[in-house]
Amino acid sequence: MGVHLEFKKHNPIGEEEKALVNQVLDSGKLSQFVAEWGPDFLGGNFVRKLESDFQDFFSVKHAISYNSWTSGLIAAVGAIGIEPGDEVIVTPWTMSASAMAILHWNAIPVFADIDERTFCIDPESVLSKITERTKAILSVDVMGQSANTEKLMEIAEKYGLKVISDTAQAPGAMRNGKFAGTLTHMGGYSLNYHKHIHTGEGGILVTNDDDLALRARMIRNHAESIVGDAKVSNLSNMVGFNFRMTEIEAAIGVAQLKKLKPILKIRESDIKYLESRLSKLPGLLLPYVDQNNTHVYYTYGMRVNLNIIKNSKHEIVEKLTNKGVPNLATKFPNLHLLPIFQEKIAFGNKGFPWTLPGVRKEISYKKGICPVSENLVDNTFFQFYINDFDLSLENLDFIARCFEEVWSTLDIRQ
Ligand SMILES: *Cc1c(COP(=O)(O)O)cnc(C)c1O
Repeated sequence: MGVHLEFKKHNPIGEEEKALVNQVLDSGKLSQFVAEWGPDFLGGNFVRKLESDFQDFFSVKHAISYNSWTSGLIAAVGAIGIEPGDEVIVTPWTMSASAMAILHWNAIPVFADIDERTFCIDPESVLSKITERTKAILSVDVMGQSANTEKLMEIAEKYGLKVISDTAQAPGAMRNGKFAGTLTHMGGYSLNYHKHIHTGEGGILVTNDDDLALRARMIRNHAESIVGDAKVSNLSNMVGFNFRMTEIEAAIGVAQLKKLKPILKIRESDIKYLESRLSKLPGLLLPYVDQNNTHVYYTYGMRVNLNIIKNSKHEIVEKLTNKGVPNLATKFPNLHLLPIFQEKIAFGNKGFPWTLPGVRKEISYKKGICPVSENLVDNTFFQFYINDFDLSLENLDFIARCFEEVWSTLDIRQ
């Protein structure tokens, strides 16, 4: 057993946040949203400041805040005018909210497989899943780097689809010099406690499309009671929610956004140090970064090359954990295998929305539909959930040493 070091919890909250929150508390206005067409339809000072800061930072025309990114995703899917029974192609290798945002409009998630190296949705697999009912692609910039958005947009153009990017795990990641999340019709970021920067709960949707932005703002704030005064003629999905962010969260977000770049810089140098050691270990495949991308390492996803290493990934992770490496996991969600899809029971108990007229009976969620993502979870993938910690050099050295010691005990055939 190694020495168990203290790993300090990642905590980006400090004096800057406290000062701004106190301003909100002193004002007494903890939210300024009103569900009426007028200035306060867009929220209070800090909500608008946060949105305008995000617009500037991400060089995007519209940034729209939500009480969570799950809410933002639901608003995005509604805004594109999804019809009940429409198919949306999505990756299984993500947090469940990516697929639930589709189901919440009674549309049908269809899972495409992922690229084995980037873990993002595979455009070739997307192509093979397109049918007459396909309306959109929901792509996830998973673990910290962008999906192949040029290819997805090319497919979308050809088939008349919309593309939504779930960039919850990759705020600040670049693709070809532009921010992940801003490269498709709509995208967005989570401000949940577990993400790089956070407001406790919260999310920001981004888009360069005026019409989609207006619709996404409507859905955020009781759309049905606004559309008359706003003279909105397209009533599709103008079924409103209260997805509004409070002024307190927005104030925290204003301070948090300023910290994103410094946080990413530290993450980058931590990874550089770790990789200077881990890259020497035979059969350990480190995260592959697409040549057009920068990676912000929400989680550090590795693979075991089973042609070289004869031990199972489970055995390796157990050995590393016993030595004291925290936060390792062999799992990642394969959403199609969740009971909701296996049983096709979502709303009520009779199979809705898969029972809607026109929904293809052959849509399958059986094990085997996404062989790459399934093989990763079953056999080759494991991860170090790095975002939980503010790592010291001592922590990094300790982790690298544990890997080196475990590797010296493995059955390696070169
Ligand atoms: C965290 C996360 C979400 C949900 O964001 P919330 O703000 O927690 O609702 C959605 N998708 C992905 C990929 C995530 O990691």
